[in-house]
Amino acid sequence: MTDALDRLDILDLDDDLADEDRLLRDTVRKFADDRLRPHIQQWFEDGTLPARDLAREFGELGVLGMHLDGYGCQGSTATQYGIVCAEVEAVDSGLRSLVSVQGSLAMYAIYAYGSEEQKQRWLPGMAAGELIGCFGLTEPDSGSDPGSMRTRATRDGDDWVLTGTKMWITNGSLSDVAVVWARTEEGVAGFLVEKGMPGFTTQDVHHKISLRASVTSELILDGVRVPEANRLPEARGLKAPLGCLTEARYGIVWGVTGAARDALVTAIDYATSRVQFGKPIGGFQLTQKKLADLAVSLQHTQLTAKRLGELKDAGRIAPHHVSFGKFSNVSAALAICREARSILGGSGITTEYPVLRHAVNLETVYTYEGTHEVHTLVLGSHLTGLDAFR
Ligand code: FAD
Repeated sequence: MTDALDRLDILDLDDDLADEDRLLRDTVRKFADDRLRPHIQQWFEDGTLPARDLAREFGELGVLGMHLDGYGCQGSTATQYGIVCAEVEAVDSGLRSLVSVQGSLAMYAIYAYGSEEQKQRWLPGMAAGELIGCFGLTEPDSGSDPGSMRTRATRDGDDWVLTGTKMWITNGSLSDVAVVWARTEEGVAGFLVEKGMPGFTTQDVHHKISLRASVTSELILDGVRVPEANRLPEARGLKAPLGCLTEARYGIVWGVTGAARDALVTAIDYATSRVQFGKPIGGFQLTQKKLADLAVSLQHTQLTAKRLGELKDAGRIAPHHVSFGKFSNVSAALAICREARSILGGSGITTEYPVLRHAVNLETVYTYEGTHEVHTLVLGSHLTGLDAFR
């Protein structure tokens, strides 16, 4: 594996890593190789994973909400967070989703918009992986257009009463706390809905053929009474959840480079050992053309991720930068995995190799956190000044 991994770094990007970033990368890569990679085929096939145990282990590793400061979080750089996303997604996008929904969506929402009391109450346990969070924005009839959400929060004395359904929620049924976005008379607001609150139930989504090593649930809110103390006081309007999504999309930009890299490492190893017509298939020009195209495309995704890391660490990142990254990197990673699959021939369609698993996972990543089309429109709007959303 290592040889192909080294050869894929044609532009010597690894040489630019700071010592502590390399150490972090190697630590997470070792954890991924020892603890995650040996089981991922089974988890994916079974459509289950030991999420509670894994959350604690990710917590011990210090990667949950690692880019946040204080409250048990590491205060890492954006680049370090990106490196971690790539290493985890090199095993599976579902595992990266566990990490990034916890850190970038649920924890970030509390960190950015919560009261001091809410931060003290939830963030240390979430950073340790003792508590799990989810982020409920999407609804059955409200996906790309979250402004059309129907979930409603009505004030009743010191409480709010929440009614509605959230759909496709990662970590949903696992969660100790759900960040739920709801319409109020003053606009969209965020609420911390706790496991066990009367009227709050979840139901897992089954029959997925993508992101199987991830829990996806429906959140059902049937007159759930939530105290005012559980409303996120600084979250005002739709820009609050959108701010969380910009955080999470940044992790995706890096994460998918890991999935694509893993697919390509597998394809190179296969191409150099599989013999047809008397020689390794990697010795045929058509295979080399595929590998050259894919390796160049992979390095482009890595350069994009690196640039976004620099912009974020410099405090200069804007939503259109993140849209650029999600738009370009996810589609490139998906194309890499599909073509890499062809190099494995028939073997490529099994779960014995990770390549097609990465590809089908990336179909979800292509759609969640703003579909590919939505990011196309963000870029179109940036380029023309004209909004084409409606
Ligand atoms: P729609 O919005 O109905 O879109 C269908 C198609 O129409 C897409 O191709 C879309 O791009 C296109 N389309 C829509 N509007 C336009 C337009 N104006 N112009 C051009 N094309 C358009 N959500 C959460 O809140 N929390 C989570 O944790 C979460 N996890 C998820 C996990 C999984 C496995 C999946 C599959 C989804 C998850 N989502 C989550 C939901 C995800 O963010 C939505 O699926 C996504 O926003 C798209 O919404 P939709 O599926 O309703 O599709």
